[in-house]
Amino acid sequence: MNGGEVRAMKIVNVGTAVVKGNFDWILVKVYTDKGVVGIGEAYWGAGVVDLIHRAKQLIIGEDVTNITKCVERMIRGLSGEGSSSGTAVTAISGIEIALWDCVGKMLGVPLYVLFGGKIRDKVRMYIDCHAGDGYTPESYRKKARNVIEQGWTALKFDIDVPTPYSECQDEGEFWYIPYNRCLSSLEIEYITSIVAAVREEIGKVADLAIDCHWKYSVKDAIKLLRALSQFDLLWVEDPIPPENIDALLEVQKSVSVPIATGENLYRKHGYRELIEKQACRIVTPDIPKMGGLLEARKVFDMADTYYMPVAPHNVSSPVGTIAAAHLCAAMNNFLVMEFHAHDVDWWDDLIVTDARPIIQEGYLHLPDKPGIGVELNEEVLKTHLVEERDFFITV
Ligand code: MG
Repeated sequence: MNGGEVRAMKIVNVGTAVVKGNFDWILVKVYTDKGVVGIGEAYWGAGVVDLIHRAKQLIIGEDVTNITKCVERMIRGLSGEGSSSGTAVTAISGIEIALWDCVGKMLGVPLYVLFGGKIRDKVRMYIDCHAGDGYTPESYRKKARNVIEQGWTALKFDIDVPTPYSECQDEGEFWYIPYNRCLSSLEIEYITSIVAAVREEIGKVADLAIDCHWKYSVKDAIKLLRALSQFDLLWVEDPIPPENIDALLEVQKSVSVPIATGENLYRKHGYRELIEKQACRIVTPDIPKMGGLLEARKVFDMADTYYMPVAPHNVSSPVGTIAAAHLCAAMNNFLVMEFHAHDVDWWDDLIVTDARPIIQEGYLHLPDKPGIGVELNEEVLKTHLVEERDFFITV
């Protein structure tokens, strides 16, 4: 490119395809007048696809490099000025990521270059194991051994699971029990024995995080986290419901275990109070949900001013995962990112790339091609569509 030359590339359409993975993966394509096509992904949710198709009407004809302008226009057009309506922000996130892919392809550079350049060539991932085959210490131990043998160096397990002492033994009903039930001493003891079994199995070779899915009251969370403090946990995630930052601050001040939270928050303003009050030790934005790559970068930076690490929540296909990894590679305060598709054996068949598998020994190896650096394998994608007619529809 000659000095001073400005490249222009206009958005002409946006398409979507929804793939049935372990979640519904909402894939997005942004088509341009120069033939360049960007790919992105939005977090699942009712109404997201419809909102993507509404949002695109607001940006067709705009230059792909004007990402902030496109995002602000879509925010105002879908949910009003200053609003951070969750589903609308999620829909916009998918388009935003695809716009960055277009810009990377247009300039011929990988995404990490656009976010300040990479600090690391590979991005550390942790595996979300959920539970064992059952909810016993032995089944958790077996699962932990299994993933350690696969080379993972950071693990997360759910402990908000039915125990022999739970008041509800019906698993279908258990997940709907409100947070304010009483967590008995016997339950705390049982949960502690599960975490003890995992820690004993993995020793110090891997980091261990625990997820509570917003299940407990303040008093029970404090009791439980104090009991778990002996296991040198990487973090305990979402011990109490997400809406009350002061309540979370009380829990964090009462325990030594680092608390991680943030997967339900949107845009930078959604994180301000959490970070400013230091109500947790680790922030967990979901990038294809909370506003996209540039908005997530602002959250990384805000957290960095309080020396708080960021560990992105992630349940995406390879598209959303690798896009997020480009940003993580460029951020000082990146800690580790989630991998949640352990049970989807075709997860990285969904993309075409020179470097396979994308995740090896617990690290995601960043592609160096322009943009996100991978393309979709559309034959594989077609076999996993939620609705066959939805293959990159452009209504
Ligand atoms: Mg979680």
